Amino acid sequence: MTSSKKLLITIDGPAGAGKSTVSKLLARKLGYIYLDTGAMYRAVAVLARDNEHSGPLDESTLEEICLGLDLEFVQKDGKLRLLANGRDVTEEIRQPEISSLASAVSAKAIVRERLSGLQRKMGKAGGVVLEGRDMGTVVFPEAEVKFFLDASPEVRSKRRFLELEAEGESTTVEEVHQLMLARDRNDSNRQLAPLKPAEDAILVDSTDLQIGEVVQLMLDHIEAVSKEHNVTTWKKRKTD
Ligand code: C5P
Repeated sequence: MTSSKKLLITIDGPAGAGKSTVSKLLARKLGYIYLDTGAMYRAVAVLARDNEHSGPLDESTLEEICLGLDLEFVQKDGKLRLLANGRDVTEEIRQPEISSLASAVSAKAIVRERLSGLQRKMGKAGGVVLEGRDMGTVVFPEAEVKFFLDASPEVRSKRRFLELEAEGESTTVEEVHQLMLARDRNDSNRQLAPLKPAEDAILVDSTDLQIGEVVQLMLDHIEAVSKEHNVTTWKKRKTD
């Protein structure tokens, strides 16, 4: 007997480890929803940057942004787009300057509280792959499947550099490397919801693995957990 219950799958880890690519592929194979929680922190950073008077990290500015915040992921022409208060911020959130600002605003209690609440609402029904830094530790400690995806800093910087280059950003591997190390330090050392593996997370090192190998390894684990929970997960797997 199988049930219609769907799993909660969390994928945490540092920048450039391959979380987005892997999470999207997993969600597609399983017929699950994909939630990019980093994009939500980035959207707050974009709104905060607009505040020229008191600066982006001013507490009352952030409080105001969080109170009035409306975030919506919508499909348009086969692509997922993010609307922040109705404004399409899909491209803007990927600017390198927003990466650092997102890391700074994400250390603020008011921002974490607001976004964690939204994430819980979006994911609570299950059938979702959640990508972020604290999905398995803080937002969904009850998730049935938790992964922590990592890779060496050199490989992560190289991947990030290639992504940015493809998007037309002018930068160097060294610059990307330095910014990424700084962001890792901020994310790992902050007081609230620091980046770290959940105790019950499966650690996956993607340094020497192809994307397909990472996804297969994760699917094998999900299959085992699904059996334990009596859940049917991938109607779509054989045809994909
Ligand atoms: O995943 P991404 O690199 O887009 O995330 C941008 C920033 O947002 C991270 O560096 C981190 O500071 C923050 N973040 C977070 N918690 C999450 C997801 C992202 O603090 N769940």
